[in-house]
Amino acid sequence: MKRILELMVPGLVGVLMMGAGVGVLPVGGAAQTEETLPTPTAPVAEPSSDVSASEEEPVDGKAGDEPGIETAAAAPAIDCAVLKCVALTFDDGPSPEYTPRVLDTLVSEGVPGTFFMQGSNLKAYPEVAKQVAQTPGMEIANHTATHPDLTGVNDERLRAEIGGAADELERVTGKRPVALRPPYGLQDETVSKVAGELGQAVILWDVDTQDWQESDPAAINQTVTEEVQAGSVVLMHDIHASAPSALPQMVRSLKEQGYTLVTVSELFGKPEPGKVYENGAESV
Ligand SMILES: [Zn+2]
Repeated sequence: MKRILELMVPGLVGVLMMGAGVGVLPVGGAAQTEETLPTPTAPVAEPSSDVSASEEEPVDGKAGDEPGIETAAAAPAIDCAVLKCVALTFDDGPSPEYTPRVLDTLVSEGVPGTFFMQGSNLKAYPEVAKQVAQTPGMEIANHTATHPDLTGVNDERLRAEIGGAADELERVTGKRPVALRPPYGLQDETVSKVAGELGQAVILWDVDTQDWQESDPAAINQTVTEEVQAGSVVLMHDIHASAPSALPQMVRSLKEQGYTLVTVSELFGKPEPGKVYENGAESV
């Protein structure tokens, strides 16, 4: 699997110094092993049953009433070549149960986040997506229409998965996504080429919280503490309780360590369509 190689390679490299407009390469995590990666045919990370909860009322998204985000959105001067930037990312939502909890923490801590939404949940919970989009500082991003392994679909389906989700996100939220996260992190040259034609940069990650299988917030935060570097992209899922449970401590800890939280677009300084990014150290 190409993805395995992508995960292993960063483990061999160390810190790349800044000054050249570039952050840092990731230090490989011990957790990034083959057996922990979901296979394309076994999407264990995203059980659909997890997204069916609907006890919480949809929010009608009055963004104007939300507290302002004091960091990225209000401070376009953020320079991740100088600052220790980290992007927190949330895949597979929106979820009416967990996404608002994630959002509450980000807003109360005054930090941004990036939400890679998948089309099926977007259609089911458009009001949650709108709430995210209308909260200052939050970035809406593309996680395909139906969450397939993009390396295993034909060209027509590939375009429908990427372009269709981008269209739907724009229709629902009023914002056109520029960042695509391929399901399971699986991508190849065809995927990145088509993504580029559809105006999407391919965003992977270098810190995997394993939150889809790890429910202990302390364990999740230990993983982040051990693996995070300047320029890191942290992978979480806002369709499980783990992410909102671990997030308050995660944000406080990252702040204490001097990190500045940003969206992926801010981290990569306007990511280029078709280019593949894994961390603040340029493409893979
Ligand atoms: Zn996913």
